[in-house]
Amino acid sequence: MLFLKVPRAEAEDTRRRLISEGLLSNEYDVLTEGGFVLFPVAGRFGHFEAVELERKKREPQAKKLRDELSGLLSDDELGSLTTSFDLVGDIAVVEIPEGLEHREKEIGEALLRVHKNVRTVMKKLGPMEGEFRVRRLACIAGEDKTETVYRESGVDMRLDLSKVYFSVRLAHERARIADMVREGEDVLVLFAGVGPFALVIAKKRPGSRITALEINPDAVRYLRENIYLNKMTNIEAVEGDAKTATLPRSAFDRIVMPLPKSAIRFLDVAFASVKDGGTVHLYALSDARDPFTAPLEAAREEAARSGVGIEPLSMRVVRPYSPSQVQVALDLRVRLNRPR
Ligand code: SAM
Repeated sequence: MLFLKVPRAEAEDTRRRLISEGLLSNEYDVLTEGGFVLFPVAGRFGHFEAVELERKKREPQAKKLRDELSGLLSDDELGSLTTSFDLVGDIAVVEIPEGLEHREKEIGEALLRVHKNVRTVMKKLGPMEGEFRVRRLACIAGEDKTETVYRESGVDMRLDLSKVYFSVRLAHERARIADMVREGEDVLVLFAGVGPFALVIAKKRPGSRITALEINPDAVRYLRENIYLNKMTNIEAVEGDAKTATLPRSAFDRIVMPLPKSAIRFLDVAFASVKDGGTVHLYALSDARDPFTAPLEAAREEAARSGVGIEPLSMRVVRPYSPSQVQVALDLRVRLNRPR
């Protein structure tokens, strides 16, 4: 098997890029050797040395979990089992299908045995709720705790899943936006949470200045802690409501709006704060069969009301949200043609 030899410092970034290029093989374990991480790959990548190594294929962890549970659960129960989960730091967040609740302890404990890096297994008790977009959770195995440290793109983020929103599924999106930021830019992240967008941008572009606005006091507390933890000097955390906060007019080169459920209602704020020629990254939920027409139309209507012009630079589906809805990202170039 071909392995790509990547210096440790570049490993996390390279892993992400290999995944997005579809080059990382999940059939073999990732290896470490001295100061290098060796990724099993389907082809050569970048300037990294590639080496041919004889290795045994690994057993898929989903299969291991099923095997672990095969004596404990009936075939029907195994059939309805969901083996995927979100890993936030050392906390696994799982969905226990209806009808399997009486087996949740066995499932959680099997997961702890198979995934050695997991210390806590939490089950979802419902969807993300309320203004702060927080999900209720209950511990089904391991240490009963909700605070953890999650690492992404070279940044550590401390957070408490019972108090703040967090999604590991947006890592690619955060890296995509950070890649677009140029040194020297003024960036505003509305709905900043514990800071994943702000921190990843700040790390990637130390010459940018970032304002991160968030309404949930617990999230702001973690955001400030994370700024300190990562020794960032180019992020200002602001606690407040995006609708009423005092923000400078025409001051930002880029505004990120990661609140898919209702960011459209805050476009007036973004259009008032963005510089001429700046970019607004709008997140929205929309119909999976026609994902872009409705949010683009809504953005055009708000642009007309705000007296600005918009031009879509790119529109993409970020991830599925429900059977009929997807989350989309619209990158909009804004022209200020309102009288000043
Ligand atoms: N950007 C973060 C992330 O990716 O993890 C958080 C995204 S989460 C979907 C939306 C965040 O917006 C929540 O932390 C919530 O508390 C915050 N929020 C909701 N309404 C807000 C408002 N009116 N002003 C500022 N923040 C708000």
